[in-house]
Amino acid sequence: MPVIQVLSPHLADMIAAGEVVERPASVVKELVENAFDAGAKNVTVELRGGGATYIRVTDDGCGMAPEDAGVAFLRHATSKLRDEKGLESIGTMGFRGEALAAISAVSRIELTTRPRGAAEGTRMELEAGDIREMLPAGCPEGTTMIVRDLFYNTPARLKFLKSDRSEASACELAALRCALGRPELSVRLIRDGEERFFSPGDGRQDSCIYSLLGRKAASQLLLCTGENGGVRVSGYVSSPSAGRGNRREQYFFCNGRFIRSSLLQAALEQAYKNSLLVGRYPSCVLYLDLAFAQVDVNVHPAKTEVKFSDEKRVFDAVYYAALSALQGEARTAQVPLSASTKSVTAASPDKPRPVSASPVPKKDFYQSMSAETFRANGYAARPAAPARDERPQGSSLRQASAPYQTRLDLKPRASSTEVAAPAPVSTVPAPAGTPIVEKPVQNVESPAVPDHKIVGEALKTYLIVEVGEELVLIDKHAAHERMNFDRLRAQERHILSQTLLTPVTLRPSGDDAELLDQNAALLRELGFEIEPFGEADYIVRAVPAGMDVGETASALEEICEKLRRGKAQGEQEVWDEILHTVACKAAIKAGWDTQVEELEVLAEAVLSGRVKYCPHGRPVSVTVTRRDLDKLFKRIV
Ligand code: ADP
Ligand code: MG
Repeated sequence: MPVIQVLSPHLADMIAAGEVVERPASVVKELVENAFDAGAKNVTVELRGGGATYIRVTDDGCGMAPEDAGVAFLRHATSKLRDEKGLESIGTMGFRGEALAAISAVSRIELTTRPRGAAEGTRMELEAGDIREMLPAGCPEGTTMIVRDLFYNTPARLKFLKSDRSEASACELAALRCALGRPELSVRLIRDGEERFFSPGDGRQDSCIYSLLGRKAASQLLLCTGENGGVRVSGYVSSPSAGRGNRREQYFFCNGRFIRSSLLQAALEQAYKNSLLVGRYPSCVLYLDLAFAQVDVNVHPAKTEVKFSDEKRVFDAVYYAALSALQGEARTAQVPLSASTKSVTAASPDKPRPVSASPVPKKDFYQSMSAETFRANGYAARPAAPARDERPQGSSLRQASAPYQTRLDLKPRASSTEVAAPAPVSTVPAPAGTPIVEKPVQNVESPAVPDHKIVGEALKTYLIVEVGEELVLIDKHAAHERMNFDRLRAQERHILSQTLLTPVTLRPSGDDAELLDQNAALLRELGFEIEPFGEADYIVRAVPAGMDVGETASALEEICEKLRRGKAQGEQEVWDEILHTVACKAAIKAGWDTQVEELEVLAEAVLSGRVKYCPHGRPVSVTVTRRDLDKLFKRIV
């Protein structure tokens, strides 16, 4: 029979310490959070090496009286939680009373602390959790905690530490996350005597982000705000042109606490659907503020995971806030000049683009629709440009006169006295044959088209438009593809179809035939009319309106490919992917001759801000300023 023993408190502490103190970075996090909870305005973190030998955190917070300092290192000793009720709404970073006990169990600690206004302070030394020395001492108000020789008494843990370099950068990241979460507090980080970052603590999110993440990251961010049923969202999200290869630059904060959350990540990324390439991720610094009782932070000792009592509300808050930030983005991506151009103009550093403000949708914007309808409509919810009846009408190339050529629909948009419900476009499927007319949606102010002059088309690919002091170059295919995609999406599952004068026969290869059979209903919704013909052939009698008939076979091949790959994805994803194909096949191509009226339609769509990225996330336009050109020609240096 084994003999059961109750572990000594010391051994129990050492075991428990493993949960809270994994590496030097955990010490940094816990000490900075304690400083925040102590009401500090300024916090300085100093590291030596990777942090395991030396971490010092100094704050100007409330400090501790000697009797408090004496018990602070005991397990479950905390000033932040009194009773069970308190556990239901935690407003401080700490509350478990574990960190100091855990850290001190596996290190040597030196503490000096003086409460505000007290005549003198206290100096304490601890080793492996035991107090070695405790004396009155002269010291500044606030608290300084030095943690030395982390894991000196747990060699097994020490062995698992990585190189100094990677431990130190983990420490830096831990401090940065704390600092980013609290723009009203100033945090300085010094590593081996060198200042690594400093946040000003002026309470402004933008200056906090700028100082911590740097100019480049800050210049690619769009202001993002929103509110949904008591969940307030503020902060910044990245412009789709600044997509990243990973999610490392996604920072979420809940009531000032850095958290990891797959829910928030999904809400954010959902908003970027159709404006970011697959495999690219948005970055963000988003602050969620909600009632303490609405979120449980007591999920894990490290407290970076939380549970929201109403996940959907939180999801929607983030999703809509991000979406409206994207909709409000400036007209075109300011694409930096190419490297070679840069070298010519290197004399003047590029100015950071000011973090721009986005119009916040009207208050009832959120309440007026269910998340599902909104999501299902996606970009269709984008406000349309005001109807412009002066648009050339006679030049409209209808399907009848050019049945086999894809042309832009030049019909003026319905002049609207009818105000559609907010966001979702309730498109009644028009009877086949009527022209496709976009209905203006008037939820947010309709963006106006600025005065402009079409200079011409270059290389049969790029449309050149002069707007004020800028030249806007528009990729005509990409812009048209986006317009098509939005139009198709707005038609929901009733894509208009065009009957072919001469049906197309095709012979699918491999298992494409099977896919065509299995997905007959879906293809009908897309506007294809297909039936088997003979042994191995299929006859196509109708294709989606606007599609170039010459592309029928290749479009169907692509759709089959997407169906094959899409099995694991959600239905909406597959549908969107397929719409991409149709949108692309219906778009004017680079290399084609395009009429000037058609170019005008494209220019207006882009200049009004309705069309920014092609469905794959590539920008549809690039802006070159007079300054850029003047620099190239060395008119200015
Ligand atoms: P918790 O933060 O969960 O309360 P800790 O072990 O981190 O637990 O800290 C224990 C207690 O020590 C805190 O509740 C607080 O009263 C006190 N304390 C810790 N750090 C500081 C500090 N920098 N300034 C003032 N008091 C502190
Ligand atoms: Mg703590």
